[in-house]
Amino acid sequence: MNLINNDDLKFLKQLIRVESTAAHSENLKVVLEMVLNYFHQHGVSAPKEEIHEKSGKYLLLLSNNQDLKQDIILLGHLDVVEGEGGFEPQLEGDWLYGRGAGDMKGPSLALLKIFILALKEKLDLKITLVLTTDEELGGENGTKYLLDDLSYQTKVVFVPNNGKNINTICVKEKGFLHYRLRASGKAAHGARPWKGENSILKLMEFYYQLAKFYPEPKDDNQWKKSINLGYIKGGTALNSVPEQAEIGVDIRFTEKEEQADLIDQVKSLAGDYEVEAELLSSGPVLEIPQDNVYLLSLAEIIEEYSKASVDFISSSMASDARFFMAKKMSALCFRPETKHLHAADESIRIASLEDYAFIVYQFLKNFPNI
Ligand SMILES: [Zn+2]
Repeated sequence: MNLINNDDLKFLKQLIRVESTAAHSENLKVVLEMVLNYFHQHGVSAPKEEIHEKSGKYLLLLSNNQDLKQDIILLGHLDVVEGEGGFEPQLEGDWLYGRGAGDMKGPSLALLKIFILALKEKLDLKITLVLTTDEELGGENGTKYLLDDLSYQTKVVFVPNNGKNINTICVKEKGFLHYRLRASGKAAHGARPWKGENSILKLMEFYYQLAKFYPEPKDDNQWKKSINLGYIKGGTALNSVPEQAEIGVDIRFTEKEEQADLIDQVKSLAGDYEVEAELLSSGPVLEIPQDNVYLLSLAEIIEEYSKASVDFISSSMASDARFFMAKKMSALCFRPETKHLHAADESIRIASLEDYAFIVYQFLKNFPNI
């Protein structure tokens, strides 16, 4: 069976060429319309075909039924991260290069092709395909909207995220805390700093104290909490004491820590250093039990198909699967082989995309009905 053909690759290249980033929000709807159009070119239509808008972000929903309770949701996203270059796709051997090739325009196209085949073969399952356009921004107006506002539920969701190749399934994701921290000081001439109060230094002292609680993991295999100072803003000139400053901090944690304790610690340190801490978003540690029926069924299909064993892995990255797992719905995170996600030379191995589509379709055909 050939699920991903030359027309699909041609279309994938067209999708990559559209800069569907947060800075070009008009393109978010454009890519969804392109996909809907491509869907219709296959001579099919779905009982439910909707494009929703929430706070300037869009999502495409195609469903083979009218219900809110699904057996399977296929979840992808068509937004990509900002960056220089990478919007001119290039095929080199078996690898397709371009921003979004792996994360997640390629896998999203595979999900579309699976959905089309399920429609054509009239699979007796409730299947919904959802493509969002705010995953890179946190998923609040995409996946969270789908579950909280549109009230969708599912037995299982496929999220092509957080695996290394088709032989790894991600079963655990770290939790996270995203903070904006601000400090105020008193302006003064840089020649007389003692007359002022330096807001940048306040934040630096605060951050060094906080970071002491987060010794940096050496590599992916060290399952430990971590902290990143993502940006720093403040000051206007080298000869003045800065009055206002701000930093952005990304904390990741494991099941060994209590989320509430980490929040308390930030709060108390912020108080000591006269820093104002604002928790922008957070997510708990999530895990799918290793005896989950859907997980075991998927692993069996992969092993049979690839003639190689499947590894269950943990990931430091959070994905949109977390919204489902927080509501006790099973999420299966695995994906085709990709390289350099979020970089201009991001790429996906075409054969692996085909493998991915084939495996997910086999899962649908052998759906564990419980
Ligand atoms: Zn991404």
